[in-house]
Formats: sequence, C-alpha cells, structure tokens
Amino acid sequence: MKKLLKELTMSFQQRPWLNADIPLEERVTLLLSEMTVEEKTAQMVQLSYSIISPEEADRWARLGAGSFLHVLGDNARRLQKLATETRLGIPVIFGIDAIHGHGIHNGATVFPTQLALAASWNPELAERMGTVTAKEVAAEGLHWTFSPVFCLGRDPRWGRIDETFGEDPYLAGKMGAAAVRGYQGSDVSDPERIIACAKHYIAYGESTGGRDSYDAPVSMRSVRSTFLPPFAEALKAGALTVMAGYEPIDGLPCSAHTALLRDILKDELGLKGFVVTDWMNLTSLVSRHRLAENAEEASRIAVEAGNDMIMTSPEFFQATLNNLAAGKLDPALIDDSVRRILRVKFQAGLFDVAAKVKTLPIALDPDAGNSETVFGCPAHLEESLASARESMVLLKNNTIKGIESLPVRGPLATGRTGRVVRKIAVVGPNADSVRAQFGDWTFFTHPVPHLDAVPTFRVTTMLDGIRDLAKQEGAEVLFDKGCDIFDPEKNSIKKACAIAKKADIVFLAVGDTLIQTGEAHDRANLALSGAQDALAEALAAVCRKKGIPLVSLWVNGKPLEFARVADSSDAILETFNSGTLGGKAAAEILFGITEPKGRLPISFPRTTGQIPVYYNQLPGWHEGKYFDCDETPLYAFGEGLSYTSFRYDSVSLSSETIREGESITATVRLTNTGSRDGTETVQLYVTDRIASLVRPVRELKGFARAHVRAGESAEVSIQLDWTALTLVDQHGRTILEPGEFDIQAGHDSRAKSLVSAVLKAV
Ligand code: BGC
Repeated sequence: MKKLLKELTMSFQQRPWLNADIPLEERVTLLLSEMTVEEKTAQMVQLSYSIISPEEADRWARLGAGSFLHVLGDNARRLQKLATETRLGIPVIFGIDAIHGHGIHNGATVFPTQLALAASWNPELAERMGTVTAKEVAAEGLHWTFSPVFCLGRDPRWGRIDETFGEDPYLAGKMGAAAVRGYQGSDVSDPERIIACAKHYIAYGESTGGRDSYDAPVSMRSVRSTFLPPFAEALKAGALTVMAGYEPIDGLPCSAHTALLRDILKDELGLKGFVVTDWMNLTSLVSRHRLAENAEEASRIAVEAGNDMIMTSPEFFQATLNNLAAGKLDPALIDDSVRRILRVKFQAGLFDVAAKVKTLPIALDPDAGNSETVFGCPAHLEESLASARESMVLLKNNTIKGIESLPVRGPLATGRTGRVVRKIAVVGPNADSVRAQFGDWTFFTHPVPHLDAVPTFRVTTMLDGIRDLAKQEGAEVLFDKGCDIFDPEKNSIKKACAIAKKADIVFLAVGDTLIQTGEAHDRANLALSGAQDALAEALAAVCRKKGIPLVSLWVNGKPLEFARVADSSDAILETFNSGTLGGKAAAEILFGITEPKGRLPISFPRTTGQIPVYYNQLPGWHEGKYFDCDETPLYAFGEGLSYTSFRYDSVSLSSETIREGESITATVRLTNTGSRDGTETVQLYVTDRIASLVRPVRELKGFARAHVRAGESAEVSIQLDWTALTLVDQHGRTILEPGEFDIQAGHDSRAKSLVSAVLKAV
C-alpha cells in the first residue's frame, strides 16, 4: 500500500492534472492535451464480461478503456490496476446497476423498489436510500450507479414498471431528484458517494404495447410537457450522467436523436457530465433499427447525436478511428465527449488518490474499504426498514362485526387497540417468498441470473414478520402456501381452507414473482397467475361464513388484475417489492405498531384491456367509457387509507392571481375525524379551465405530509410556483396562458376527494 502511494506520488509530478489545486477544467484540458486519438476514443468505450472474455477485458484495460460495468471484487481491482499502469494512468469508472440497493452483491441491503418507495411520497426516504446504496457500492470500489429511473410507469404491462417512481411526472421528479442527492451528496468526490445516472432518456416507458424497447409513439411536444420535467429535476439535483433509452421516438432511436441529446439535454438543460448509451444501442443501429449499414456509420451517428460513452458495443473503437482517419467525423466531437467523461472522473475524485484515498486504494487494496462491515450492516438495514414501513398502502379496511379488520393484536398485547386474534392463518404463494419480495435487480437476477442463489443473510418474509410479532403477543400462526404462483394444478386450497377454519383472521399473500417482472419480461395478461384467484375466493367463502376477516397482502412488482382478490378481501395491504425487512414492516402495520402511510404512485386497472388508466389523461368526448368495463381504475393514483379518517375542509390561496415569476401559497385545512392519530399526504392538483390546447383533467403539482391527532385539525401549506400552470405550446415553448385554474387539494386524484379554489393567471 505504502509503495503504491509512493509510486502514485512520483507519477503525480509527471502528471500535472493530478494536482487538485488546479481548477477542474484546467486539469481536464491538461490531460486531454496529452491524449492520443486512440486514448481518447478508448475513454468512450464501456465493456462488460457479458460480451468479452476476461483476457479481452484485460486487453481493453491496457488500451485505456474508460469504463467497465458489472465487475466486482478482484476483477475490478485487477482492471483498475491495469488501467492505472497505462501511459496516462486514467482510472476506469466502474458502473453498476444498484437499483434498489447494491442488489448484485449477495449480502447487501435490499431496499423497496423505486415503485414501492414512490408510494411513501417521501423524498427524504429516497435520499436516504441513495446514501446507503452509495456507501455499499463505494465500499466495493465502484463509482457509478445506473439509477435512478426517471421514466414514467403508465403501462403496467411493461416489465420495468417496478423500476419507475410511478405514473406522475411531478412525483417521479421529486423522488428521483432526492435519490440523486442521496447517491452523489453535496460533494461526489467524497469516498462514500457515487455518481448517479438519470435514465432512460426519454419516454422509454411508453414503448408500444408495453413491450420493452419498442418505439414510443409520443410527440416531441408531449416529450417536453410530460417526460422531460422529471429529467430536468434530475439535472437540477446535479445528476452527472444520463443514459439514452433503447426505443425510437418519431423514427429516431434515442441514441441517434440529436434534438433530444444535444439540443435539449446538453444545450437547453445544460448537462455538464456525459451521456452513456444503453446496452448495445450502437450495435442495434445496424442490427435492429437498421439506421446504419456498418459500425462506422453507426458510430458516426451515435457521436454526432451526442452520446459520449458507448455501452457494450466495442466495435465503436476501431470504427471511430476509421471515421477520424477518413475525415468522416469531426474530432472536436470526440474531444467534447472525452472532456465530459474526464470531467466526471475528476469530479468524482477518481484522480485524487493521494488526497482523497478514494478509488485506487479501495480498488487495489481489499482491506481498505472494510466492505464486509458495510454490506447489510444493522444501520443500513434499519434504513431499508424505514423505507418499507412508509411504502405500503392500505387499500381497503372493512368493518366486520363492528370492528375494523385491521389492525390486529395478540392476546398478550398491551397499550394498543385493535382486533384481538389468537390464531392467525397465513396463506399464499408470496407469504414466504424471498424472490417475490425482492423483485428485480437483485443477486437472483442480475447481471447473470442466479435463480438458485440463497441469500447470505436473513430476509424477513411476510410469514416471518407475522410469526415474530404473533409470538411476542401470544398468538399462534398456521401456515399453508395454498397454491403455486404459476401452476394452477399445484395447489392445496383445501388445506388452506382447513387452517382458515381454525383461525380468527386470514392473511393471504398474493401477487407475482421475480420472472414475471423486469427487463424484457413484459406481460400481455396481468391476471393473477396460478390458482391465486380461486384460492382467494375459497378462503373468502370460509371467512364470510365464520365472520372473520380475509386480509390480502399484495406482494408484487406492479399493478395486476387484482379485482377478484379485492372483492374477496375485507382488507388489503399493498406491499410491492419491499426489500430485506419487508415482512417486518408489513407485520408492524397489520399489528398496528406503525400506521399505514403509503399512497399509490400508480393507478391500478380493473382489467388489462383498460390500460392505460393513469389519472392525468386528456379529457375525451365520451368520458373514456367502455361498453364492458367501468372506465375508472380499480384503485386510483394517490389512494391509500390510514387507520383513521380525514376530512378536507378547505383550500385557500395567499393570492387570487399569479403572474410569471411569482409563487403563491395554498393552505389546506383538514381534520382527523377518526379515533386514532394519523398521517395524511395532502395532494395538490391543478386543472386549467380554458387553454389553447387540450390539457390533462388534473395534474399533481405539490404534496405535503401532516401528522394530525385524533379529532384535531391542521393547516398544511404548499407552495405553488407559476411554472405549475404552464403548458408546452405547439412550438415547444413553455408558456403561461392567462386565465383561471382550479387549485384542488385532497386525499387522492379522484374528483370526489378534492376541495378547490380558483387562481387567475394574469
Ligand atoms: C438496461 C439498463 C441497464 C443496463 C446495464 C440495460 O439493458 O436497460 O437499465 O442500466 O442494461 O445493465
């Protein structure tokens, strides 16, 4: 180690850009001026073991490849060593898909997915998730996560819905920006911080038919008005990198879209860092999208469009050298891309080995990072638990024999009210399933599936969590899986009903499992798989006869066709993919130890054919009615119950008018009308009464949380900026049109829950 530092200090004198006292841009210029065209082009190359052999990887590191992804441990250390031994010693930047925790590492803290976290409507939790994940990723000597996802989740058939912060641009922007702050901190060169990557730019979630990576039939106007705002939030929060999406928009794949990458992202939004393509986006310009005949043409298109780093298309290297030699590519474009990559490497402290002891010592010396004391450590698990507690949504809670189904308490519980249960039946294919609970982008799936992997730490499943609390409170737990998640023939419905007959309550965990979600795992049919509906109906019959509640726990990556289970259930807790301690968080809510606080970040359809069912659609002439289905969602964006109830009394505005550059305050008065203290998420929606273009029925423009004691009232103030009223006109300009706007506050996005005031833009 000492030897290494000495060597590095010596080379410091020959490498003036290593001097941290020199301003950043000058350091970049100094280094850039030393680089050959081969070295520059190599910096733009990103590789993975999935596409090259270990020997080839070493060769690329010696050639000065800028980045590797999905490399861990000794491999990372070796590649970094090779890179720093090259003529200029430019460190590799290691990227990883740490999507809800550093999930690839068996033993790391797994957080609720982005979709689950969005249900908390609590950006602070997203920031804390980012901070913890950064620590675990950095402990491995890696620097960069391909997260957060700023795509919107508007088509639940799409496999990657779980990776989004839901369907609304405002909520997604706020949650994602907080995650960026968590990853990068205020100084990304801090050894415990990592670089964020806002992805997938842009409108990737709109892929036709929910089929991953197919073209997104959206206009450039809707790109600007709906899909760009979350990315603008990402950049405001300081996101240093952006990943281009796979899909074409208006005929141009995102990685070939100069207007999107150069004009909007770099020039208008001012991205100072770099753009990375998605997996083989360059290769697919030839093989899939057929925009280019060969690698040379594809490389020219990609560079001219504004991509800076090329993921897993190594042919880019030689093709670009050929283009430059043939005068087919402006070398200034290469300089600009490399400058951006180097700028990020400098900003992240990758060069400041002597001063910051960040990358190289950790990467080269396995002991320097103390990594094993970081992964899944108690403090980090506590953060995951805190997120899970707030990410679960109570969707139904009927009263049976004068008592609400939830919460419950065991016979020995003291100091809490709630339904007393002595025998609890736990049923369902997802009651004890780590895979279903974890969801995508964990060590089970990524980057090479380890479907047989066993977690090297304790995961608290739903069954575990319920058992733990039941034991403490003197209740007995009976368990039967009830049915397989896939095969309807594999079921034990009779046995499940038999234990239900002995119980005071039934907890039924249903949903989907890992391979039913994720990239390229889209679904055409969102009906519950296997015999889950039949199981729910059989249990409901037992429960109704006995007069006991059937409580369903939804363990799922995305909205499914839950209508039949919802009908069968007396109470519903949506838990999504809740991470390492999800079962503990759920059990605490069921037992009334914590209150349910989550609100849906996405609307749930009644049936697959009803998709899209997101709340902020444009109004239609026939009100979107179907002949054979109610046009409303089963559960709407923003919905979620508490163990108490709230009444919205009024919304008042600090001014009746607003003009460009101004902001006003909306003050919402609400009353806790129930018998328990509770937390409400006040949601503020805006509707433009008359506009020059058709505008959504309403749009979320603010939210705030309030804890209100039983029987008391509270006033909640939310600031509303003039930009909340603007629209993107047909020329792509963002303008404020004079006229009246309804400012609506309430419990969820359904009209009936909202109180309203009028604001006039002048
Ligand atoms: C996904 C990205 C991911 C990348 C690297 C792609 O297939 O679309 O989200 O970051 O692979 O794993």
